[in-house]
Amino acid sequence: MLGSLRSIVQEVNTARDLPAVLEIIVRRVREVMHTRVCSVYLRDKQSGNYVLMATDGLLPSAVGQVHLAPGEGLVGNVVTREEPINLEKAEAHPAFQYFPSTGEERFSAFLGTPIIHHRTVLGVLVVQQEEQRRFDEGEEAFLVTLSAQLAGVIAHAEATGMLATIRRQRQETHFSGIAASPGIAIGRAHIVTPQANLATVPYSLCLDIEDELALFQQALSTAREEIREVGERLKGDLNREERALFDAYISMLDDNSLAVEVCDRIQQQLSAPRAWAEVMLEHVRRFEAMSDSYFRDRAADVRDLGSRVLAHLHQRQQSERDYPDNTILVGEELTAAVLAEVPREKLIGAVSVKGSSNSHVAIIARAMGLPAIMGVQDLPYETIDGVDMVVDGYRGDLHIHPGAELKRRYDDIVEEEHQLARSLDHMAGLPAETADGHRVCLLVNTGLMADVVRSLERGAEGVGLFRTEVPFLLRDRFPSEEEQREIYREQLEAFAPMPVTMRTLDVGGDKALAYFPIEETNPFLGWRGIRVTLDHPEIFLAQVRAMMKASLGLNNLRIMLPMISGLNELEAARRLIERAYGELLEEGYEIEMPPVGVMVEVPSAIYQIRELAERADFISVGSNDLTQYLLAVDRNNTRVANIYHALHPAVLRALQEIVTIAHAEGTKVSICGELAGEPGGALLLVAMGYDRLSMNATNLPRVKATLRAVRQADTELLLHQVLKMDCADEIEQTVSAFLQRIGLKNILRPASARH
Ligand code: PEP
Ligand code: MG
Repeated sequence: MLGSLRSIVQEVNTARDLPAVLEIIVRRVREVMHTRVCSVYLRDKQSGNYVLMATDGLLPSAVGQVHLAPGEGLVGNVVTREEPINLEKAEAHPAFQYFPSTGEERFSAFLGTPIIHHRTVLGVLVVQQEEQRRFDEGEEAFLVTLSAQLAGVIAHAEATGMLATIRRQRQETHFSGIAASPGIAIGRAHIVTPQANLATVPYSLCLDIEDELALFQQALSTAREEIREVGERLKGDLNREERALFDAYISMLDDNSLAVEVCDRIQQQLSAPRAWAEVMLEHVRRFEAMSDSYFRDRAADVRDLGSRVLAHLHQRQQSERDYPDNTILVGEELTAAVLAEVPREKLIGAVSVKGSSNSHVAIIARAMGLPAIMGVQDLPYETIDGVDMVVDGYRGDLHIHPGAELKRRYDDIVEEEHQLARSLDHMAGLPAETADGHRVCLLVNTGLMADVVRSLERGAEGVGLFRTEVPFLLRDRFPSEEEQREIYREQLEAFAPMPVTMRTLDVGGDKALAYFPIEETNPFLGWRGIRVTLDHPEIFLAQVRAMMKASLGLNNLRIMLPMISGLNELEAARRLIERAYGELLEEGYEIEMPPVGVMVEVPSAIYQIRELAERADFISVGSNDLTQYLLAVDRNNTRVANIYHALHPAVLRALQEIVTIAHAEGTKVSICGELAGEPGGALLLVAMGYDRLSMNATNLPRVKATLRAVRQADTELLLHQVLKMDCADEIEQTVSAFLQRIGLKNILRPASARH
C-alpha cells in the first residue's frame, strides 16, 4: 500500500484546486482499498459543521447536502474523539444516523479517520463496505497515514480556493504567521519561486496573449537547441541508452500535441510558465501512476525536461522584471540572497511560508529593519502575485486586499513608528550606561555593507559579529582572497579604531552556498561552521589571510570561531591562523596578531568554558544556536517555533554560568545572539555581567534607551527574581511587566500596534 500512498499524495499535490483534490482522494482511496464507498467531509468554517464534500459510492446528489455537527452521527463522533472509528456494523452504533439522500443504508462496515491540521479537525475521511466486517489494522493504518498527509494539502487547497474567491471579489482577508521582524509594510506582493520548479510556478495571467505565445515558442526552441548541442557534445561519452534519452527529450519537445495543450491554456490568458508547468505536471503524474516501473522512471525525465524549458521562460521574464515600489517579497522559503537581489529602496517587507523568527533570513530582515513574517503555512502564495497587502511584523499578521479602514489604522501605526524612531535619534550621541552609571559596550552585528552606515549613525562602538558568510551567500562562487580582503577592509576601515569581530565562515545548517551544496538529513547537527572550514583548510587559510591583510595599519581585527564544540577545534583553528600570520609576516605585512575568540553556541562548550576561557582571547555567546541546541528545537522549523524560548530557565542558567566562569578566568564575555538586541533580554544580560552586547543596528537605540532608563541594582533584582522561576512564559511576562512599569513598553512596539 505504501506505493499507492505515495502516488495518491503526489497526484493530489499537483491538483489544480480543492474540488480536484477531493475528487482524486475519493476515487483513488476507493480503488486502492477495494471499498464500495469513499467520502470526504470537510468543516464549514462558518457553521462549524462537517459537510459531505466529495464521494465515490454514495449518491452524487448528496454532496453539499449532508451536514453534521461535531458529536453528531458517526462522522461527528470521529471529529470529537479526534481518532478513527472502525465498525463492523455501523447501524448498530448508538450514534449512527441515517441520511436517505446518500443511499447509505446498504453499507455496514464503516471506517472514518479525522483529517487534523495544526490541532484542528479539518475533516473526516470515510470508507464503507456492504458486508459486515471490521477493517483490518493495515487498512486503518493506511487511512490514518493518508489523512495525516492530506491535512496540509487540504488546508492549502482550501485557502487557495478561498483566495480565488477573494481575488475575484477583492475581499480583505487575513493569514497568521510568526512575527519575525517588527514593523509595518504596506505594499504589493512579489512572488519569488525557486528557479525551474514546476510545482511552485505562481498562478498568473498574461496581458498580451500573442507575446506570451511567442515567449513560449522561443523558450521551446532554445531548450531544443540546447539539448541537441549537449547531446552532440557528449556523443562519444554516452552509451546507447543515454543517447536515446536525449532523442526522447527532443521528440517530446517536437511533439505538437504538447505545445498545443500549452498554447490552449495561454489562449485562455494563463501565463506561459504556469501553462507549461500545469501541462508538464499532468504528464509527470500520468507517468508516475503507471504500474510499469520503466514508465514510472520516465516521470523524472519529463519533470527534468519541464524544468529546462521553464528555466528559459524564467530567464526571459527575469530580465524583463522590474521591481515595483513598495515590494513585499513573498515565497515558500525566502533566503538572504533573494532579499539582497531587490534594490533596497524598493523593498519594504518579506513573507515566508516556511521558517521561524530565528531563521537566518529573519535575522537579516531585522538587521535591515525590514518587517517580516515567517511560517505563514497556509498561505497559497503562488496565487497572490501583485496583490495589495499589509505585513504586520509585530503580531505576525498578513492582510491581503486591505480595505480603507484597515489601511488607515496601519498608516497610524507607521506614523507612530516614525515618531518613535525620531525620539530615539538623540541616543546616538549618549553613552550606553545605566541610570546609576554602569557602562556597557554596545556593538553591532553586520553582514551587508548597508549595515555599516546605519551602525555608525546609531553610535555603535564596534562590530561584535560580522557574519562573513553573507558576502559568500550573495555570489555564485567562492570569493577570491583578494576579493575577500577588499570586503573586510571596508568593514575594518569604516569602524577603525573601534574593534571589528569577524567570524570565520559559518555555512551549513540553513545557510547553504549554491556553489557548495551540502546535502544532509540533519543539517543543524551536521557539517556546519568550524567543522566545514577545518575540513577545508584552503578555504579557512584564504579567509584568515584576507582578514589579516585587510587589517594592515588598522589593527582593529578580532577573529571569532563559530560552532566550537571542544578544545581541539580551537587549537586546530588557532594553529592555522598562526600559520597564516607567520606567512604574512614573511611576505612583509607588518600586522599584529589579532585576538582569537570562541563562540559558545554548542552545549558542550558550556561544560568546558573554563578551559576555553583560559585559552581563547575572548568568548562570545551565540544564544540563537545555544537555545536551539539546549532545547533541541530546530530554529528554522515553524512547527516547533512556539517552544523556542531564549528566556527558558535552562538557557538563562547556562548564560549565567558561562559569564561567571569566564570572568573567573579573567576573560571578557560578549553575546551576539538576538537576545542581546531585545530590551528585556539586554537588561538580564547586563545584570549577569556580560561585558559587551552585540545586536543589529535597528535595535541598538532601543536597547540603549532601555539601559539608560534603569538602575543596575534593579536589573539585578529582576534577574534574581526570574532565575527562581521555572517556566519560560512566566519569565517573559515578568520581564515585560518590568518594562511596562518603567514606561518602556512603547520601545518594543508602538502603542497603536498592540491592540
Ligand atoms: C548565534 O547562533 O547566536 C549567532 C549569533 O550566530 P548565527 O545566528 O549567525 O548562527
Ligand atoms: Mg550561530
